[in-house]
Amino acid sequence: MATTPYPQSYYAASANPVPPRPALQGEVETDVCIIGAGYTGLSSALFLLENGFKVSIVEAAKVGFGASGRNGGQIVNSYSRDIDVIERTVGPKEAQLLGKMAFEGGRIIRERVAKYNIQCDLKDGGVFAALTSKQMGHLESQKRLWERFGHTQLELMDQKRIREVVACDSYVGGMLDMSGGHIHPLNLALGEAAAVESLGGIIYEQTPAIRIERGANPVVHTPQGKVRAKFIIVAGNAYLGNLVPELAAKSMPCGTQVITTEPLGEELARTLLPQDYCVEDCNYLLDYYRLTGDKRLIFGGGVVYGARDPANIEAIIRPKMLKAFPQLKDVKIDFAWTGNFLLTLSRLPQVGRIGDNIYYSQGCSGHGVTYTHLAGKVLAEALRGQAERFDAFAGLPHYPFPGGQMLRVPFSALGAWYYSLRDRLGF
Ligand SMILES: Cc1cc2nc3c(=O)[nH]c(=O)nc-3n(C[C@H](O)[C@H](O)[C@H](O)COP(=O)(O)OP(=O)(O)OC[C@H]3O[C@@H](n4cnc5c(N)ncnc54)[C@H](O)[C@@H]3O)c2cc1C
Repeated sequence: MATTPYPQSYYAASANPVPPRPALQGEVETDVCIIGAGYTGLSSALFLLENGFKVSIVEAAKVGFGASGRNGGQIVNSYSRDIDVIERTVGPKEAQLLGKMAFEGGRIIRERVAKYNIQCDLKDGGVFAALTSKQMGHLESQKRLWERFGHTQLELMDQKRIREVVACDSYVGGMLDMSGGHIHPLNLALGEAAAVESLGGIIYEQTPAIRIERGANPVVHTPQGKVRAKFIIVAGNAYLGNLVPELAAKSMPCGTQVITTEPLGEELARTLLPQDYCVEDCNYLLDYYRLTGDKRLIFGGGVVYGARDPANIEAIIRPKMLKAFPQLKDVKIDFAWTGNFLLTLSRLPQVGRIGDNIYYSQGCSGHGVTYTHLAGKVLAEALRGQAERFDAFAGLPHYPFPGGQMLRVPFSALGAWYYSLRDRLGF
């Protein structure tokens, strides 16, 4: 049997030990078949199992093989688009529902970690760092906006205050969210997978879904077997390919790259990020970074539209890291890797149902650690017949990328170039 290894990341090198999980051989029957063992699939599975459903997950590679095992580990609340934009798109009633849910994903992660005793280096505190006064003004209005939806824990920071939490001179101010934070993302996924299995769920690794037979009794076909289910949840996100063509038309896989330094030692680490918060800046193509449990710096940034793997990741990301922290010029980079997230044109998640029994959630466009955990809960609610929150997400409109499958990559790169030029020029 072919095995697909994890990319050579810091996370794979420091993963908690896990038992081997065999591929599906033959035919099985279940209530819900989930395609993909990232956070969307695992979170859905946990909520469904806790509510008495039988669940099987088919995973093409390994648990957390996709973005969930490769990401920056930043617990960033809310969505990749501001709630006022959502309000203008869907109206105040639906926006109210979506706005209220925007900080729930972070709470779900903490509940999971506590309930299932998941060892994933969970730390509280996330900083949004403003590089310009325009970005600071945006954070101020975002704070006011979130307060309207009941989220009052955000703290604005002036230039002096942000310098106390991050040793970078580039920022004019920022905003601190103590309900944000960071985790070892692969160990979170592996812990959630163990929790799924502790509740009787089954995870088949090395088991790609190669065809979905639609109809009243849908069937997921895999190379050596099939799963008959009452419901299917499609949770393959940027790694799904063309399994569900109507989803692929309105989303685009994009790559983003991450590097990890050698261990910095307690003292140097503390000078960079004394409170051990994670940081992301407010640029359109943003930089994000944090310390690991063993005091390395993990630094990510940049986007490759169309998800090609760049040849020399260190050459792309290290200069960004040194711009933020010139004091790291002699520090060695131990790991560099790439991962794919799924972009939609609106940058809002693509959620819905095909027919009566195939559900999907994908495309949270970069900020997905918290959203995917919330999505699992919302999908499970819908399968239990409580679809109000699911319908709020499903009502978000989605459009094909300009240029279609052929030209969406250059068109999007052009758009991003325009926005990053605006960031560089400060307007
Ligand atoms: C490098 C990087 C950094 C990021 N940093 C952050 C961050 O710091 N904070 C944040 O909020 N978000 C971040 N994100 C985004 C976040 O990681 C994702 O939004 C989230 O993990 C998506 O979870 P998912 O379960 O939907 O998809 P994935 O984790 O990608 O999981 C999909 C799974 O489905 C499987 N699969 C696909 N097709 C099939 C098939 N046909 N059959 C069976 N299995 C299949 C794949 O193998 C994969 O395991 C980052 C993303 C990347 C790539």
